[in-house]
Amino acid sequence: MRKEFFINCYYHPVTSAIGQCKYCQRGLCPECAAVVDDVLACKGRHEDEVHQLEQLTARNLFQAKRVRSVYMRNAAFYGMVGAAFAGFGWWQLKWLGLQAMLFIALGLFLLYAAAANYFEGRKYK
Ligand SMILES: [Zn+2]
Ligand SMILES: [Zn+2]
Repeated sequence: MRKEFFINCYYHPVTSAIGQCKYCQRGLCPECAAVVDDVLACKGRHEDEVHQLEQLTARNLFQAKRVRSVYMRNAAFYGMVGAAFAGFGWWQLKWLGLQAMLFIALGLFLLYAAAANYFEGRKYK
């Protein structure tokens, strides 16, 4: 049992609350509570506000997912190009010498960028 459910209805101080309004955090009894998008709101008072709050949260989640996918796409791209450069440099090392080292360095740098993007993307869930 969570602590907030021991409070009484804000509008009926003698009735115990079943939950809280997501907008104003006041206790609500079954008579005063309206269910909006799976959460409680003061009936006839904060239904619109709670609906807007929920819309906002849903949009944030959607955006976080988008940011994450951009990071993951960057990570995949850098990883692929980096591996190609490093592989090419490694393969050409015998013939190109120092020039091949530059390819390897560039490849490693891109692999590092890929890892950085990957870990940054993991922050967004
Ligand atoms: Zn009430
Ligand atoms: Zn309210």
